[in-house]
Amino acid sequence: MAIRKIARMGHPVLRQVARDLTFQEIKSPEIKRLIQDMIETMEDAGGIGLAAPQIHESIQLAIIGYEEDNERYPDSGDDEGQPLSVFINPKITVLDPTEQGFWEGCLSVPELRGLVYRPKKIQVDYLDINGKPKSLVAENFLATVFQHELDHLAGILYVDRIKSGPGTTPISFTEEYQKYLAPQPDDDIGELED
Ligand code: ZN
Repeated sequence: MAIRKIARMGHPVLRQVARDLTFQEIKSPEIKRLIQDMIETMEDAGGIGLAAPQIHESIQLAIIGYEEDNERYPDSGDDEGQPLSVFINPKITVLDPTEQGFWEGCLSVPELRGLVYRPKKIQVDYLDINGKPKSLVAENFLATVFQHELDHLAGILYVDRIKSGPGTTPISFTEEYQKYLAPQPDDDIGELED
């Protein structure tokens, strides 16, 4: 197992559309090892999700996992958390297009936060770590986490989805964000950092 170097914004691997994995690849020791490396890299960086392109592997594979009520993400609301899981060749279907705003961060875009609006309820169809087809429904905070991570597999970064307008501050350095922009308890905007 090894902690991998994380690709940062500007590296071309983050802009490629990742390729699907075959069933044989999913079963291979190389992919098992890669998944272990991704878990170790994500835990070392303190993230709640990591997509394979973020460690320079352009394949349709992401991991997501965090505990409910964790201190780093107090604004996840009544979210129940997500046990650490592997998502292979995932596809998203929007179930409720009502948009929700979260201040997002990204291990590949260090020191920045951006306000992004995304659909609040989605379905994810994917293969699990054993290549078995699975499906889940995600709402609220978890829905944004999935959309952020799976965007990485399509070569999209959250900064692409920031909508600016007169009088808005949709992007900020982390320090200024915490000082001036972090959501207050009554705001209907949350925050997350992958
Ligand atoms: Zn990210």
